[in-house]
Amino acid sequence: MPEKLNRRQFVVAGTGTGVLASTRVFTSAPQVITRGVKPAVVAAANGNRSKDGAGLTCVAKAFKMITGGADVLDACIAGVNIVELDPDDTSVGYGGLPNADGVVQLDASVMHGPKKSGGAVACLEGVRTPSLVAKKVMEETDHVLLVGRDAQRFARNMGFTIEDDLNTPKSRELYLEWKRRTDPDHYLNLRDRAQRGYQVALEMVAEGKIDPDHFHGTINCNAVNSKGEICGTTTTSGLAWKIPGRVGDSPILGAGLYVDGEIGAAGSTGRGEANLFSLASFLIVESMRQGKPPKDAGMAALQRIKSQTVAKRLLNSRGQPNFGVTFYILNVKGEYAGVTMYNPNENSTFAVCTENGPQNVKLEPLLTGSAAD
Ligand code: ASP
Repeated sequence: MPEKLNRRQFVVAGTGTGVLASTRVFTSAPQVITRGVKPAVVAAANGNRSKDGAGLTCVAKAFKMITGGADVLDACIAGVNIVELDPDDTSVGYGGLPNADGVVQLDASVMHGPKKSGGAVACLEGVRTPSLVAKKVMEETDHVLLVGRDAQRFARNMGFTIEDDLNTPKSRELYLEWKRRTDPDHYLNLRDRAQRGYQVALEMVAEGKIDPDHFHGTINCNAVNSKGEICGTTTTSGLAWKIPGRVGDSPILGAGLYVDGEIGAAGSTGRGEANLFSLASFLIVESMRQGKPPKDAGMAALQRIKSQTVAKRLLNSRGQPNFGVTFYILNVKGEYAGVTMYNPNENSTFAVCTENGPQNVKLEPLLTGSAAD
């Protein structure tokens, strides 16, 4: 039976609003040493789903570590490792949905605010925890981004176990279903096949076969400790059934993740291609540098993405983006926000952990209605 948080061990009041639910999953109450900054961890919604052996979710684990004095990046990575290793999360790490050839290719990035450094890997096959490989790129090389087979070779040299295949029975079964529906005879031209593939994937989401959060999945996790030290990581299996070799926003510093040790952190989930055109995580941190609070900075970035979306195939009948993209934002004062293009039923949330324990907080939408309307 998980222990409840002992409130006497915490300082008062969190900064979030719209709290929907609180999952008290600490197995031992964390020590909070707060001087000035209220420690906080924010993450995508799956940061409050998968649990480790002790019953901790990603945000709870990271919070426990930062309040226990661990390095903030180590804490974020330990948090997302829980999700990467969860075979049931089909958007991240082991069991992530594969590309169009049935191969799981993973992207990840890390950034350390105080150390002003970062690392990333893209199209990495065979390693369940790409976030840890990204950290090795940061720590052991003079480079920032390694890709493909050579990223795998690097990981092997760093002592990571390389597996032949990161599919699970569940991800393989879903891949085969997608193949059956999209490529019955191998005679579709590439363009039709890509479009049909995307449509079929959306149908499978609508039928409840795939959790929408796990089709456009990913986890970003950002944390700040009581000293104002801020770090973040983003890790993903990318867009389900992508063209092999496709790299999304997650491993690109400034797109899927950006951290400035003096200002704050932002990371994303959702349509990576849209984010790559606006480098919105960088934009958000720069807006915070100009004085915008996290929510306003996030809304400005969503507005930028909206104004850059002009291709007809990316617009719905109202002329607005027909895709989702979400940002998780935290500043060095411990203020945070989660913003998204649409939140039609107001039931999309992001994960937060503060002295009040792990919570699911409503995402603030830029636009009303849904992407599909
Ligand atoms: N942003 C990720 C990508 O584009 C995927 C996602 O979050 O759905 O690879």
